[in-house]
Amino acid sequence: MTTFQELGLNENILRAIAELGFENPMPIQEKVIPFFAENGKDLVALAQTGTGKTAAFGLPILNNIDTQTQKIQALAIAPTRELCVQIANDLKNFSKYTEKLKVVAVYGGEDIVRQFKQLDVQPQILVATPGRLIDLIERGKVKLANIQYLVLDEADEMLNMGFKDDIERILQETPDTRRTLLFSATMPADVARIAQRYMKEHEEIAVGRKNAGAENVNHIYYVVQAKQRYQALKRIVDLNPDIYGIVFCRTRQETKEIAEHLMKDGYNADALHGDLSQPQRDSVMQRFRIRNLQLLVATDVAARGLDVSDLTHVINYNLPDDTEIYTHRSGRTGRANKSGVSVSIIHTKEYSKIRNIERIINRKFEQQQIPNGLEVCKKQLFYLVDKMENVEVNEEQIAPYMPTIYQKLQYMDKEDIIKRFVSLEFNRFLAYYEDAVDLNIEDRNEKRRTGKRDRIRLKLNAGAQHSFSPKRLLGVINDLTQDKSINIGDIEITHKFSFFDVDADQADQVIEAFKGQDELQVSVVSKENPRANSQRNNNNRYKTQDNRRKTSDYRHKTQDNKTNKFREERQRQRENKRNRR
Ligand code: AMP
Repeated sequence: MTTFQELGLNENILRAIAELGFENPMPIQEKVIPFFAENGKDLVALAQTGTGKTAAFGLPILNNIDTQTQKIQALAIAPTRELCVQIANDLKNFSKYTEKLKVVAVYGGEDIVRQFKQLDVQPQILVATPGRLIDLIERGKVKLANIQYLVLDEADEMLNMGFKDDIERILQETPDTRRTLLFSATMPADVARIAQRYMKEHEEIAVGRKNAGAENVNHIYYVVQAKQRYQALKRIVDLNPDIYGIVFCRTRQETKEIAEHLMKDGYNADALHGDLSQPQRDSVMQRFRIRNLQLLVATDVAARGLDVSDLTHVINYNLPDDTEIYTHRSGRTGRANKSGVSVSIIHTKEYSKIRNIERIINRKFEQQQIPNGLEVCKKQLFYLVDKMENVEVNEEQIAPYMPTIYQKLQYMDKEDIIKRFVSLEFNRFLAYYEDAVDLNIEDRNEKRRTGKRDRIRLKLNAGAQHSFSPKRLLGVINDLTQDKSINIGDIEITHKFSFFDVDADQADQVIEAFKGQDELQVSVVSKENPRANSQRNNNNRYKTQDNRRKTSDYRHKTQDNKTNKFREERQRQRENKRNRR
């Protein structure tokens, strides 16, 4: 394994990072630091937060700064105030023993005049949010003429937040001789365009796969009725007494409501959303950072830049529409070689969203059952017992009270005492979960076993005329979905179309799989009454289990209006053919 010494960093930096407990470079550092030293090229690095990317660009830049010159030589742009502060603090820590090196962070939401003063120290490294930097350039307070290194951190986030024009302006303000390092968790087209347009010959370094989720995150999901999401959330939290995580909601309103409910129900939670003032935001974030809060309920926008390591869970109270956002959310846990869990609470119509994310991030999600009341109580009981076992007893302080306590409890035996102490906490859970209902929606396998299946009938715009047979149809569905668990029921092939039943919770997945096919298109026949639009009898349909039947066996049904029309059309076609001959 490479050591930091071998990467050519100077003694002052080595000493500082050793004090921070950095023993070996993380993979991205192993790649970027030598690249920086040996190569004059620009860099596009695909890396999630938590991979050690700040040190990956920060250490080699610090190693190359000329501390004798008091001009801004390196500029790092980041999407949020919190990330700027984080980067600046990291750089200050790495350069603790580097004399005369100054790092300043400037960002929106802070008094600009105070930032003028900070800039008076003439830093060599400036960390900034795009909007505030433009403001400072326009006021003549920042000059970028001497920039040698430009870092665009979380470039995808910056573009998501609408900073595209600002970034382009900043890129134009800096000299062409600069080296540009672009870091992004994902590579949407907009980021690729920036790289294409503004970067010189560049190399691409990826840590993990492109658009991949962090390796040590387990992705699990629970399926509940939409109206029972909140109860499901509580059970998940109750099942994980040590949870320290972020609950992601879609809207400010939802964020407020969920946080209020949690607080009312006795959980150690608070909300972070755009309606809070900056001091309120800072206070919530700080309480969360120092673990005064166990659960932070937040919107994606509000949680940007909140850098907290060691999260045990990320909970998707609602799945985001965009897989990139899911990647960002789940990347907040499982950092710095620790494991984490990304939980999604979904309802039955959202299976296809899960499958879609699985495909893009190339990770399998595990469906788990929402625990019942008994399981939660059991977990809490043993958690309490463990806590009691491990509590540190301050013998000295407690000693004066013990004789009276012994005296008071002397009529009880040991078993009785234990039961009562444990019940002090446990009764709360017992009472809550006494009548707890099963929140799980009967799953597919169960339905399969009991034979109760909700089916949706789908129609494909290709039939016998296009040489479609049940076998071919199944083959096409298999190929496109790449999922052998898709449960296809009755199949009916008409001349022009193919009709088939699919389990209701898999219909979206099948429809999605056919999207992007120019010629093959699938649509829902009817959700309420799957059989309404395509009558059939045993004569005119193929059954899935009877795949041996050949297309030529096909016989259409006389009483079916549609089939009649189809017959007439075929008749017309035959006549046309005859006439042509
Ligand atoms: P980042 O991706 O820059 O946010 O870094 C994630 C976390 O990993 C931060 O808390 C860093 O302090 C920590 N870190 C970065 N590099 C190393 C290293 N080589 N060894 C141990 N921890 C590190």
